[in-house]
Formats: sequence, C-alpha cells, structure tokens
Amino acid sequence: MDAHKFDAEFAQDVRRSNEATHKVLVGIQACERARHFVVLGFGSVYDWLIKRHKFSESAAHRRVQASRLLALVPEEKFTRGDVNLTTLTQVATSVRKEEKRTGQRMTKEAKQELVSKIERKTSAQTEQLLAAQFPETSTGKDTLRSLSADESRLTTDLPQATRAKLERLKELLGTQSSAEVLDEAFTALLKQLEPALAETAPCETAAKSLPQKLRRYIIQRAKTCEYVDPVTGQRCNSTHNLQVDHIVPKAKGGTNQLSNLRCLCRLHNLHAAELEFGRAHMNKFRTVREPTKSYSWPQKEKGPVSGALYASSRSFGRWA
Ligand SMILES: [Zn+2]
Repeated sequence: MDAHKFDAEFAQDVRRSNEATHKVLVGIQACERARHFVVLGFGSVYDWLIKRHKFSESAAHRRVQASRLLALVPEEKFTRGDVNLTTLTQVATSVRKEEKRTGQRMTKEAKQELVSKIERKTSAQTEQLLAAQFPETSTGKDTLRSLSADESRLTTDLPQATRAKLERLKELLGTQSSAEVLDEAFTALLKQLEPALAETAPCETAAKSLPQKLRRYIIQRAKTCEYVDPVTGQRCNSTHNLQVDHIVPKAKGGTNQLSNLRCLCRLHNLHAAELEFGRAHMNKFRTVREPTKSYSWPQKEKGPVSGALYASSRSFGRWA
C-alpha cells in the first residue's frame, strides 16, 4: 500500500480510537452522576470499572479523574488529539492536589484556562507547565510508605540534574527500574561510607529468596548462559533452561546483589555448584549417580526427575 494512503487510513483509526475514549469518559461521567454503579452493586465508579469492565486500577483511576474535567474540553479537541486522556488526567490530578492544599474549590474559569494551556502539549510539557503553575503542590514533601512487609513506595521530587543521573544509570545498568538503580546506588554509597553496613543493608536484594522480578531481570539481561570456560574463553550461550546462579553461593554468605547474580543454563548451574561444593555432594541430587547416557538434574520442590524422562527429550554430552 502507498505510504500516504496508509498514513491517512491510520489517522482515521486514531481518530476513531479518540472518539471511543471520549465516549467512555462521557459514560463514566454519566455513571458517576446518576450513581448507576450503586444499582449495579458496586461500591464506587472505580469498582464498577475494575470489576465489571476489567480496567486496571490505574487505568480506571486515570479515566475517572479525566472524566471530571471532560465538560471543559470540546469534543472536537479530544478527537483531534489536542487534549488526550494522559494530559487531561495530569491536569485533574494537579487540580485535586491544589484544592486539597488550599482547602478551596478551584473556579470553573481557572480550570478552563489550565485545560486550554495544555492543548497540543506532550505529557512532559504538561508536567512542566503544571509544576510552574502550582509550585507548592509539586515540590516539597517526600513520602515513604509501606505497601507490604517487603515493599515500600517512595515519592519524591527530583531536580532535572538528578533525573538525568537516574536516566544515565538506568542505561548503564541496563534496567528500566528506578528501584534497582537506587538499590545499586545505595549499596555503592554505603560501601564507601559504611563498609560493614553495606553487606547487611536490608534491601530487596537482601531478601532470602530471589524475587521473581530480579530473576527475570538477570535472565533478560544476559539472554544466554553466561558460563565461560576459564581456559579457552568459550562462552556457552545456551538459551535452554536458563537459571539464576549466585556467584558466591548463599550457603557461603552470598547475597542477592546484582553483582553476585548471573544467568546459567541448568547444566552450567550444576557444574558451578559442583565446583563450589564438590561432586560427591552434588551427586546426592542425582538419581543416576554415574550417568552414562542420560542425566537428571535437581528440580526445585518437586525433587529429582527420572533420568529416562530427560533421555527422551534432551541429550547432554557425557558428564566428565
Ligand atoms: Zn551453559
């Protein structure tokens, strides 16, 4: 298809998608005003969106916030994309915070003016604009609250220079997670200031079992088995049965810090364990102690699997 024709048709699809989003927001507004959700058996319009219509919590939250400002946006501006769900939600959130801070309702005119200022702005531009507009609400307090026994949520304001450092560290560490960057940075700083404390710092990476997120991250970072023959420099690069290995084993005091984790295939994980603990010890985990043709490997929780099972699906080289 011709590129321009394709682009024109795609523009139509985007417009229809914006129209649909607008319609959903109108519906949410109507449901909230008429309190239909009560009749329908839900505790709130959020509940109705999440449980009945399968929105995620954040998606429901964004739409409810945005729907409350919808009356201030001409439908045409929404369908054209001059104002979108994201930027409208940003305004709504700021308005709510500002009203909470001052204890006064913002006038319709003031809200209208804000909404017109964000037309054709990206969400980053909108964020900056709102920060300039409401300096008191957008700066200041750090909040740190517990989400569960293992996790907390930190909300803080970063000057542009600090944010640039964070983004650079994400690149260098190959992660999208600010929490991972913070943990690495905290560990590095603690090592410098309080060497003894760094080793026992209670962070995610010091948790007893390896969090699933961290496990996935290590495997995604490596993509293939990282085992390298120290003599020839040959790297395994297998993509089968990838596992996360503690370079210094936990039994020997190894931590869950990124620097102590690597991705190995099952075969090299076992090999590494043998190097650490000796072959006799690791043989206890094998059902076939001196394998000739087939091997079985320790399986977590389920216990060893039979060698025959593996012989049919996999063929390993001789275990020397
Ligand atoms: Zn390997």
